[in-house]
Amino acid sequence: MATPEHLLKDWNGFVPGAILTSFSNPEEWEHSDNNSFTYSVADWRVEKPIFNAEHCIHCQFCWIYCPDTSIISKDKKFSHVDYDHCKGCGICAHVCPTNPKSLIMYQERENEAHALENWPIKEKKTGEEK
Ligand code: SF4
Ligand code: SF4
Repeated sequence: MATPEHLLKDWNGFVPGAILTSFSNPEEWEHSDNNSFTYSVADWRVEKPIFNAEHCIHCQFCWIYCPDTSIISKDKKFSHVDYDHCKGCGICAHVCPTNPKSLIMYQERENEAHALENWPIKEKKTGEEK
């Protein structure tokens, strides 16, 4: 989902170090027009995270660290990636602790079924017998 045309600003529209605040009036839970939900950065993405449920231990690390709240969890379990807002930074895949990983970054055009069929196998630790 791209940012709506009428909300786009050029670089002069932001002060240096600007942040997109979620609320214009936090006390009343009024959302601002500048929040990271409205200003989707999904069109920055050149790589996307693909999820493999077979290896996930639902530790929620990816959910905690995603800077765009694009890991969606339900009942404390990984549910899906919100590709409408994921910017493709790769942090979720980096922090995923399983072996093999349960989230891996692929080129944006990668077919999910193909990626899952060719998922890496468990890496052996150094010194571990083959
Ligand atoms: S790549 Fe992962 S951490 Fe980065 S925005 Fe997308 S879901 Fe979040
Ligand atoms: S970090 Fe990896 S193992 Fe943990 S919930 Fe996310 S995908 Fe699953």
